[in-house]
Amino acid sequence: MKAHKWDAMFLQVNELFFSIQGESSFSGWPTVFVRTKGCNIRCHYCDTKYSYYEGGPKSFEDILKDIGAYKTKHVCVTGGEPMAQKYIHEFLKLLCDKDYIVSLETNGFFDTSGVDKRVVKVIDVKTPGSGEEKSFNYKNLDALSANDQIKFVICNEKDYLWSKNFVLDHKLHNKCTVFFSPAFETMPPQTLSEKILKDFLPVRLQLQLHKYIWNPQQRGV
Ligand code: SF4
Repeated sequence: MKAHKWDAMFLQVNELFFSIQGESSFSGWPTVFVRTKGCNIRCHYCDTKYSYYEGGPKSFEDILKDIGAYKTKHVCVTGGEPMAQKYIHEFLKLLCDKDYIVSLETNGFFDTSGVDKRVVKVIDVKTPGSGEEKSFNYKNLDALSANDQIKFVICNEKDYLWSKNFVLDHKLHNKCTVFFSPAFETMPPQTLSEKILKDFLPVRLQLQLHKYIWNPQQRGV
């Protein structure tokens, strides 16, 4: 059998599953999710705490085999924090080379400038309500392309004002799509919608579709 240069490479995988994409501009697409194990920060509202410790190494070959079992071109690499994985760049490139439509969900801490340009980066800017508002790596703003997406999870009024100022100060809306996502437990979508409209803010409201389709506590969706 032909040897690949990625034969010895792996990701720490927490779970791999097929579901409806609930976030980003790909919302609604049947998608394979590769959730990596481990995260370098701790958001108060984290709904994937199980990913901090559960899982183990999986070879690229085995991951590709599992992805291939689902008949979709959409692959989302998420976490945990995928950018903390040793071979993340090689893995993303491999997916692109295999003609998948690849999105990367990352918490904004790591510099994403080296990520393959074919990957759509969905980068969080952590708000004060997350408890991790100092975690953002500003190099990520320079590495944005028009296809990329920035996401703010809005927990409360303070988060809204903070995020609004961040968007306008950095003219983020001129660089890429900006999503404001209401924290599921604490921010009613109607309240956030009314604020966006009142301020004529050039951002897109995002609801976590999967939490409306399935039980919000359910894993693997
Ligand atoms: S970055 Fe994501 S996985 Fe990490 S603590 Fe925050 S919400 Fe959880």
